[in-house]
Amino acid sequence: LASSTDLQQTTIVKLSSNVTIGDEEIIIIAGPCTVESYEQMETVAQKLKTSAIQAIRGGAYKPRTSPYAFQGLGVEGLEILDTIRQRYKMPVVTEVMGTEDIHIVANHADMLQVGSRNMQNFNLLKALGQVNKPILLKRGLAATLEEFVFAAEYILSHGNPNVVLCERGIRSFDTYTRNVLDLGAVVALKQITHLPVIVDPSHAAGKWELIPNLAKAAIACGADGLIIECHPSPEKSVSDARQALTLEAMVNLAESLAPVANAV
Ligand code: PEP
Ligand code: MN
Repeated sequence: LASSTDLQQTTIVKLSSNVTIGDEEIIIIAGPCTVESYEQMETVAQKLKTSAIQAIRGGAYKPRTSPYAFQGLGVEGLEILDTIRQRYKMPVVTEVMGTEDIHIVANHADMLQVGSRNMQNFNLLKALGQVNKPILLKRGLAATLEEFVFAAEYILSHGNPNVVLCERGIRSFDTYTRNVLDLGAVVALKQITHLPVIVDPSHAAGKWELIPNLAKAAIACGADGLIIECHPSPEKSVSDARQALTLEAMVNLAESLAPVANAV
């Protein structure tokens, strides 16, 4: 397989001139679930810029469970992200839900996220193989590691070598946490593929108070970084409010990860 460690040891994915994923330094990508306004994103960027957090996340196209829930700002959200990445010199990651949006998303963001619900949208994966931007591929809600790796192969085999895998929790019987964070998968994926692997403890836990310790565990078991949701006023977040850290907590968490990263 193109992703196999038999072929090469590691892939380093470049988000911008000075932000990479898969090298010695861990990456932290942070930001709200959804881009809600320019003011919101500016507040986020100003705070994160003071920390070791290197990249910003925020959804403009949102895969909401209910069709009646807010679906994202769309192009307006992309334009906000584009302004933020230029003004704050921080790369941005945002989701692309369909092939028809690839072009415009690629023109406004530094990394394109494939959400869990689209992990096996093979037409989308094939099309992303022809894009000249890194892809953040999130594990499907109930995907085996074999299915996850083959999804990455769809992108790699169509010409895009810059794929980062993201463990974001898998569905199980317990409803206390939103999903079950599968750190065993992180260890295994690091062994069987040369792709960078990052962890999203936010969508795994679903509760902000569980996130700091899960983030530390992810780094301790060899993850190349984290993607975490935070919001200027978590309780006002239009989506995933229960799992959003405050900006203060986010910056504190980034600080507390340094000794863990240094120890691995
Ligand atoms: C998200 O990152 O906001 C998201 C919807 O994640 P997932 O696809 O992992 O549910
Ligand atoms: Mn979310």
